[in-house]
Amino acid sequence: MAVIDLNALAEGNRRALAKAITLVESKLDSHREQAQHMLEQLLPKTGNSIRIGITGIPGVGKSTFIETFGLYLIAQGKKVAVLAVDPSSPLEGGSILGDKTRMEMLSRESNAFIRPSPSEGALGGVAQKTRETMLLCEAAGYDVILVETVGVGQSEYEVAGMVDFFMVLMLPNAGDELQGIKKGIMELADALVINKADGDSINLAQQTCRHYKNAMNLLRHNSFWTPQVLSCSAQLKQGIDAVWGMISNFHIDATNNGAFANKRTQQNKEWMQKLITELLARKLNQNPQVRELKPLLEQKVIKGETTPLLAAQRLIELL
Ligand code: GDP
Repeated sequence: MAVIDLNALAEGNRRALAKAITLVESKLDSHREQAQHMLEQLLPKTGNSIRIGITGIPGVGKSTFIETFGLYLIAQGKKVAVLAVDPSSPLEGGSILGDKTRMEMLSRESNAFIRPSPSEGALGGVAQKTRETMLLCEAAGYDVILVETVGVGQSEYEVAGMVDFFMVLMLPNAGDELQGIKKGIMELADALVINKADGDSINLAQQTCRHYKNAMNLLRHNSFWTPQVLSCSAQLKQGIDAVWGMISNFHIDATNNGAFANKRTQQNKEWMQKLITELLARKLNQNPQVRELKPLLEQKVIKGETTPLLAAQRLIELL
């Protein structure tokens, strides 16, 4: 049994927080059970943050932006947690936030907490661990949670499904249509932020802004919020206040009109449904009778002796 001091965690003790996250990320069944009880106890203390998702292609300036933005927020009196969802980490043996040289200044701040992407997750995958870590950070008093992801596989969709505000960083390059960003992601974006709007790229950045404003107007959004297009220079620390101004406005409006709470409710319901489906599939695959019968039924389907639906139904009925 790992001993976690929940009072210390709630008072913002970083060691207690780090230990709690380690427990949440543990692969041991006993730890997983303990972690769920811990989260349940902490739930009343969670929820008081704004969760901001940040995505963009490698090299767009995500870590530079997060460092500049994080330091700006800390100067405003905020406590900032930076988490990551990086599904590529198990393959590449490292995660996007694993490199200690990234966000060096931010990592030295006592009001910043930076946690690399979990290397793997069992049920619900890496996203589940990040969701749980987010709750722990909220219980520890972090009021802004930045969740970084690279555009690999499903990771942007997963992050968009766990944050209040989802932001895509882009480069000043109007001609280059979507810059490798998937169209579906544009539809989820609450803001596009053109980074590197500095030096010779200032004009291009303005053009890019216009281009994306037009493109975003063509998309239909079923929310009170009209997605915004802004530009900034993370390196020169310009335009950062406008980004925060936009997110603060969103936060105030969404809180007042109920959209903020509704979105979180919806996200929790969808996530629960996803876990139900996963748990059922797992239970099915672990059932000894199912394991015995499944290859036989597969053969019958292959030989055309039964239909896939009848075979599937026979297996499900064993549960
Ligand atoms: P990431 O891969 O998206 O995390 O991008 P990085 O933050 O590592 O930045 C990639 C490169 O772009 C680095 O060399 C940064 O110094 C540079 N960079 C980041 N932000 C800016 C910016 O606002 N302006 C300029 N000119 N360069 C930037």
